[in-house]
Amino acid sequence: MGLVDGKVALVTGAGSGIGEHSARLFAAEGASVVVADLNGDAAMSVAQAIVDLGGKAIGVQADVTNEQQVIAMVTATIKEFGRLDCAHNNAGISGTMTAFTDLSLDDWNHMIAINLTSVFLSMKHEIPAMLASGGGAIVNTSSGAGVVGFAGLPHYVAAKHGVVGLTKTAALEFAKSNIRVNAVLPGTTNTPMIQEFTNSNPDIGKMIARSVGRGSLGQPEEIAQAAVWLCSDRASFVSGDSMLVDGATVCR
Ligand code: NAP
Repeated sequence: MGLVDGKVALVTGAGSGIGEHSARLFAAEGASVVVADLNGDAAMSVAQAIVDLGGKAIGVQADVTNEQQVIAMVTATIKEFGRLDCAHNNAGISGTMTAFTDLSLDDWNHMIAINLTSVFLSMKHEIPAMLASGGGAIVNTSSGAGVVGFAGLPHYVAAKHGVVGLTKTAALEFAKSNIRVNAVLPGTTNTPMIQEFTNSNPDIGKMIARSVGRGSLGQPEEIAQAAVWLCSDRASFVSGDSMLVDGATVCR
């Protein structure tokens, strides 16, 4: 018996990194999975890998900053699998370190669109689909930067704090409608987003690993484990939470 047996799960940003591992774990734990990503080829390839392992999945190309594409993503879920039980709103970008006063309005808007507005749009259209079948569970990917500041990343920090606030608000608004909403806050995790920096110079890689409480990077499957558990019935009394999954980093 899997943790999410018989459920239908939608994961955004699922063509790579944390989202890919989340989609694979949802499938391994018994869910039918919609693998959504801006990169349609990556989404199709992750979905195919799940099917090759005996799971149920479809790939969907979707830019989650575009409301019409978000609607199409949820519609494709209902068309293929008939319902929506679990959503992991995870798509995001890292952004470049920029001094506060040098950050352009375009870069600010771009970050807010991908890392915050996308979560609003996804929940806006996922929640009615969940209500139609009696409820569901949502996990939004924030970050340690959702609870502490980072000099040089004002746009990323603002977006990730925003995700925590949206999560709490949706949790309150739908608590009596059997919809749970939580956030997962990863620490530095070994995905293509981070490999861009760690692969550039071994010394930078070691410095980044030392910044994690346990002294080594998180692995994307460790974040996925938290997301899938939060969406499972085992977490039935957990809603409005912001779960740090960061190997004792932010608590220091
Ligand atoms: P990743 O490997 O780069 O995966 C992110 C995925 O999101 C990519 O497949 C990307 O597609 C997709 N994406 C970007 N913009 C999108 C859009 N507008 N619509 C749909 N999909 C979009 O990064 P990751 O490390 O797994 O990050 C996943 C989430 O975790 C992000 O929200 C990130 O902020 C958060 N996080 C990561 C870390 C970390 O250390 N890795 C730490 C804290 C929080 P493309 O490749 O085509 O752009």
